[in-house]
Amino acid sequence: MSKISQIHGKCFCEKYRYTIRGELKRVVHCHCNNCRRSVGAPFVTWIVIKRDQYSIQPEPKSHTAKNKAIRTFCEECGTSLTYAHPNRSDFIDITAGTVNHPDSLNPDWHIWGKHKVEWVRMNDHLPFYDIFPE
Ligand SMILES: [Zn+2]
Ligand SMILES: [Zn+2]
Repeated sequence: MSKISQIHGKCFCEKYRYTIRGELKRVVHCHCNNCRRSVGAPFVTWIVIKRDQYSIQPEPKSHTAKNKAIRTFCEECGTSLTYAHPNRSDFIDITAGTVNHPDSLNPDWHIWGKHKVEWVRMNDHLPFYDIFPE
């Protein structure tokens, strides 16, 4: 588990800036088809935290998918910012690629490995789950 007191991040054009406060619940690499498509990358690394640990200015645009997942993004530069789902309403996931110092993160798991793109090869020896393990 990563223990960092405060993390700052921003979108590519710097319109949106955010702060994460307190201990991170988890950092996961998600290989699911929805993350792949919505971000446009073979997998997406997420910082999982409680909603009240996160603040962003201004309030970003959002898209709600058929499965009710809500993703926020910058409408100026296209950066993906967050993921949230009503089934996990206490939590919000932040794109790890948007933090200012991503080297400070320590990923914990891979999830949705059953959707992993074949040419993505991992040798980090982290737990690798076929689906979401909770
Ligand atoms: Zn932007
Ligand atoms: Zn995903």
